[in-house]
Amino acid sequence: LDRWSNLSIGEMLVLESIFWSAGASRHDIATTLRLSKSKANALIAALVAQGLLMEMGHGVPGTGRPAETLCISDQLGVLVAIDLGATSMAIAVLTPSLVVLSQHSEAVDVRDIRLGPGVVLARAKVLVSELLGQCDKSANDVLAIGIGVPGPVNFEVAQLVSPPLMPSWGDFSIRDFMADGFKAPVFVDNDVNIRAIGELWKLQRSVSNFLVIKVGTGIGCGIICDGKIYRGSTGSAGDVGHICVDINGPRCYCGNVGCVEAMAARPAVERLAAEAMERGESDVLRRYADERGYLDANAVGAASREGDVVANRIIQQSGSLVGQMLASVVNFFNPSHVFLTGSIVTIGPLFLAAVRQSVYQRSLALSTRGLHVQYSALGDTGGIVGAGVLAMQEFLKSRSVSR
Ligand SMILES: [Zn+2]
Repeated sequence: LDRWSNLSIGEMLVLESIFWSAGASRHDIATTLRLSKSKANALIAALVAQGLLMEMGHGVPGTGRPAETLCISDQLGVLVAIDLGATSMAIAVLTPSLVVLSQHSEAVDVRDIRLGPGVVLARAKVLVSELLGQCDKSANDVLAIGIGVPGPVNFEVAQLVSPPLMPSWGDFSIRDFMADGFKAPVFVDNDVNIRAIGELWKLQRSVSNFLVIKVGTGIGCGIICDGKIYRGSTGSAGDVGHICVDINGPRCYCGNVGCVEAMAARPAVERLAAEAMERGESDVLRRYADERGYLDANAVGAASREGDVVANRIIQQSGSLVGQMLASVVNFFNPSHVFLTGSIVTIGPLFLAAVRQSVYQRSLALSTRGLHVQYSALGDTGGIVGAGVLAMQEFLKSRSVSR
């Protein structure tokens, strides 16, 4: 029995509203959807009776009346979320209300041409079935699969479009490969877009125009415009990593010089740290390199927290360049919020401070009035939550269109 297949438009709107509000009372739902109390109650009663909604929480003390919070029923099935980064993948099984039931992450280099999409995604499928097993679920329980990948995506066909980091993925159908063995639909989007969608859910859609900037192996931007993800005409909207911030800067793998990604992302931070260490400028970095056997961005962060001036300078420079790029983007788009995420963003408090200083210095006063530049509220879980939101949102949408 497919309990999803016979829903009215009104019931669908109630489900969507409850999903996006991460639990809501009957009163909230009537208010949000501008329905009469009796109409909202009737729709909700029908959904509870069908097992699509469940009630949680307790009544209001002393009133004698229940004020339960409603959420989408856990009994309906699970979502699979996959967040594929340039150097790691995270996978989770979640309830329709995005509670994580099981999860796993491991290192994988998607840029390694010896692996290619077949090998990486086959491993992802093995992990998905292990994670489903851990929470006593099977492939048939999966409602939808959401996947984030580190490159520009044609969302309709669920394929990467000439991805610079991973050329062998270009013509590969991620959707067909992942859908095999599941009845569930598969949705694929850029890894920063899924973080933006996740942030929108976390904010319960209370902010309509914002950017999510990810600074890790690469630099990318997810755009929420008028309350919706903006992907652009070919799926590469927000590809800000190759904006030039220094015409005398180093050459980037894209062929241009001075790209912000080539100067401020993790490889640049690690390269600058290694060069400074070789020049004998930092005993602290040298010590970390000797202790660990290598010098990575985490070591630069740790050295910075010890007060190492070289590490501080590298982090400040990275933040400042990201802020310089952001200033142009902020002038152009006029967001109310910019949320920062990715491994470099949390390398040390100096990074955020440098981004802010650079943005406010270089942007026009009108576009920074009321602008908030802050960390993503989802932090490290942004990819998993975002892929889960993508899966559930598109699943609900596909159901409402079919009516
Ligand atoms: Zn470039």
